[in-house]
Amino acid sequence: MRQTTFHDYIDATAYITTADRCIIRCNVPITPTIRFERVDDVAGFAEVRRGGPISRDSAVRLIGCSDGELPELLAAARAAKERFKPSVITYSRKVFIPLTNLCRDYCGYCTFRRDPGDPGAHTMSPEEVIEIAQAGEKLGCTEALFSLGDKPELLFPEMRETLRHLGYKSTLHYLEAMCELVLRETGLLPHPNPGLLSAEWVARLAAVSPSMGLMLETINEKLLAPGAAHDNAPDKLPSKRLRTIEEAGKQDVPFTTGLLIGIGESLEDRVDTLIAIRELHKRYGHIQEVIVQNFRVKPTIPMAHWPEPPEGDMLRTVAVARLLLPDVNIQAPPNLSAPYYEDLVDAGINDWGGISPLTPDFINPEMPWPHLEQLRLRTESKGCELRQRLPVYPEFVDAVISKPGLLSEKLHTSIGDDGLARRAA
Ligand code: SF4
Repeated sequence: MRQTTFHDYIDATAYITTADRCIIRCNVPITPTIRFERVDDVAGFAEVRRGGPISRDSAVRLIGCSDGELPELLAAARAAKERFKPSVITYSRKVFIPLTNLCRDYCGYCTFRRDPGDPGAHTMSPEEVIEIAQAGEKLGCTEALFSLGDKPELLFPEMRETLRHLGYKSTLHYLEAMCELVLRETGLLPHPNPGLLSAEWVARLAAVSPSMGLMLETINEKLLAPGAAHDNAPDKLPSKRLRTIEEAGKQDVPFTTGLLIGIGESLEDRVDTLIAIRELHKRYGHIQEVIVQNFRVKPTIPMAHWPEPPEGDMLRTVAVARLLLPDVNIQAPPNLSAPYYEDLVDAGINDWGGISPLTPDFINPEMPWPHLEQLRLRTESKGCELRQRLPVYPEFVDAVISKPGLLSEKLHTSIGDDGLARRAA
């Protein structure tokens, strides 16, 4: 095999920049004379260079690529991102509304969930919901992200009593009412993450929120086995989650989903999870965003002794997500990759997700969101402008705004000419 130098590469500058960071991180010195093997003939890269979405075989090959091949993978992913959304990285300025942290599931990595009576167990009142939403509005937020446990009333009589007291039949009825309240009383647009939904509930929540989300997390059913990440988490059965995502597709609801990496899945599982999402998007065209979220260990969780996925693993997964889904928004949360989160731009993300100037990340409370000014500077250091978006992405706005009603009216007031959040006057 012929050996070559950097100068043989077409985009030498991008390559050197990317290689420099990755290799320094691995404590391998880099000099202008360092020599790499050409990777043209490595399976996977040939398909990348032809453009368009890559195949499963190439994705499996690329997600396990060597450190030497990583710079080319990143360069290809970044180029794909620039073809899709040139020179911009978006984020959604949001408040996080943890409507209830009671949950009937027991995911091994979760610090959010509580049983009734646990310290910190709480279901928010309507007054608390509106107070957070109004405070966020004053800080320029445009999204109210509703996070909640999955159907806690099915397991806990205490939650049934709480709901009865509030005047609702189920957590979903209460969520629907709180989305409508926020929509009516504030300029924020709700984005609920309510867990599994029937067709009826997809429709009901779509009437009070322009988009919604459910992480697929993984396609691997074996993670429900005893001792695995989804042991005793019946709502994490992949087929059930795919059904909810498909229902949203049938109803043309802009949908956010994604994968959680480092919870016991294989690299092939990650590719298959992304391909399952791609198949649904091909059929219905409704996947507005795919989140690649990395497992972070916490001392109080059942998975307290599991290793976290290393940075290179995260970068490879994000890059492969970009190449499998070149025309879908790819997001990775910056707080979960601090302090080097800007490297995610090299891997092809075009969105940082929801960032709150007000509320902590209740799912990962030990990982503060970056200050927005820091986020802007780091985004600009990668050659991109930071722009605020709405919970619904620009390419999905038309379908929502065309339906007359309160949701459409509120969208009209928040949206700018380019489909992103209206810039402050
Ligand atoms: S991750 Fe979600 S479904 Fe799992 S235990 Fe936590 S709140 Fe419940």
